[in-house]
Amino acid sequence: MTNIEIAWIFNEIADLLELAGENFYKVLAYRKASRSLQRINAEVADLQREGRLSDVPGIGKNLRSKIEEILKTGKCTYLEELRRNVPQGMRYMLAIPGLGPSSIRLIYQKLSVETLEELEKAAKKKKIRELPGMGPKTETNILEGIKMLKSIQDCVPLGVALPLAELMVSQLTSIQGVKRAEICGEIRRGKEMVADIDLLVAATSPRDVIDIFLSHPRFKESWVSGAFQATAISLLGVKVNLKVVSPEEFAAAWFYYSSSGRHIDKLNEIAANQKYKIISKGFKSEKEKENGIIMPESEEEAYGFLGLPYIPPELREGSGEIEAAIANSIPKLITAENIRGDLHIHTNWSDGLNTIEEMAEAALKRGYEYIAITDHSRSLSVADGLSVEKLIKQFEVIKELNKKMSGFRILSGIEVDIRTDGTLDYPDEVLAMADIVVASVHSGFKQDSATINLRVQRALENPYVRILGHPSGRILGRRDPYALDLEQILETASRKGTWLEINSSPDRLDLSSYWARKAKEKGVVIAINTDAHDVSRLDDIRFGIITGRRGWLESENVINTWPLDKLLTELGGMF
Ligand SMILES: [Zn+2]
Ligand SMILES: [Zn+2]
Repeated sequence: MTNIEIAWIFNEIADLLELAGENFYKVLAYRKASRSLQRINAEVADLQREGRLSDVPGIGKNLRSKIEEILKTGKCTYLEELRRNVPQGMRYMLAIPGLGPSSIRLIYQKLSVETLEELEKAAKKKKIRELPGMGPKTETNILEGIKMLKSIQDCVPLGVALPLAELMVSQLTSIQGVKRAEICGEIRRGKEMVADIDLLVAATSPRDVIDIFLSHPRFKESWVSGAFQATAISLLGVKVNLKVVSPEEFAAAWFYYSSSGRHIDKLNEIAANQKYKIISKGFKSEKEKENGIIMPESEEEAYGFLGLPYIPPELREGSGEIEAAIANSIPKLITAENIRGDLHIHTNWSDGLNTIEEMAEAALKRGYEYIAITDHSRSLSVADGLSVEKLIKQFEVIKELNKKMSGFRILSGIEVDIRTDGTLDYPDEVLAMADIVVASVHSGFKQDSATINLRVQRALENPYVRILGHPSGRILGRRDPYALDLEQILETASRKGTWLEINSSPDRLDLSSYWARKAKEKGVVIAINTDAHDVSRLDDIRFGIITGRRGWLESENVINTWPLDKLLTELGGMF
């Protein structure tokens, strides 16, 4: 048993105590101990042998005896007892992002909700918002979380997999003897739906890392799956693969396991000319009498060995990136630092949760120069769409707010519904009053191809429409794209100068990277927006950026990398 394993046990005890409604200080004691065990340099087993356990901050008599039991027997009877006493459904609820043990406890107590199904029902019946400290936002979170959990069959959305992978990486990094831990595989390439979480660790004693990994409390099952490899299924149902290599092998393995099979196959054609073969450890010589392996020290060195510049992981799909590398024309992919604003944001004027001011402040804190407030239009009653009067009132409020802000601009926008016949939900004279108009389809998803094409084309012909929101309408794992001919839409967008959105919401990622790349090729400019309905969702921009990178986008292809004055000129030229 190592520090991290004991830390995990204490953390789980803290969760279970909190679920059971135990004393706050008792919970805190276990959390503190868990944290300090992850931080100390010495091994707990050594400290115990030397009688120095009490030196560890936060370890009193009670916890010391727990540690002694764990070290001696490999088990913790207290944890086992707690597991028996807390309904399993409540433990699964911990997998819902943003739902902590104390909220789960409250829901259990007040509504006798014990399973995920019961929780979903309670949220749908709007029972959760009646509880102290909770609101509609908690219900939305719960329903979204459960939807995500249900959508996990063969693949999980990047938005679920990436945060879990990052958590695992930070925990693996704190294990003694671990030199480096990184994400590889499909997540590193930014695929929108991933089959597994692939993790790679460089360590001096691989077996220890594997043993610790196997006992992670957030796993339902775990097993050894090869020499220095382990696999687990998380509480969420996501498959996690761990490979452990020596520090010398790390760079080659990271390069190898982050690349698609097609990418490696194509690189192998180049390597073959030099009489080498790429394997996970490096470049294996195929020359007679030579049987060494060349181990690169970095990914850059690996590509350099083949005479190529570095290829970012998002491009490693074998779809033209090697040809681009040979021609020295690998794009300079967009990064988070390039983003200067967000052009699709909702507030509590429609179905968002925060005020205009709160959204603006949150954006300012991120270093943005501008945002566009784009609440829903009048006929979208399920989302409290704005009447014309209310919209005009909102524009006035924004005007006042802008007077108070320096170096930051709130654009008054609208997400106008494209009605089933292709007309827009406000008359032109109202649209003309907005700084920016996003047009989106929110109904009639099942229209046949000819009808929906005509519908969206018609909307794009409107001179006030600047952005087509979530163009394909897909919801990952739940709803297919509409029967829209995106090829045609790109033609029109290119002719009209309309920007197409990459909606960063992790369950949308719409446009997909495939269509983003097509858009770039056609010279259509992209807007990477979050469609945030509360301040925390502004963070979703990272998923949109990853999708853009997979679509080969550079900052010049993305409108919201432009400085405010340039953007305003562009918008102003319209009217
Ligand atoms: Zn929308
Ligand atoms: Zn929206």
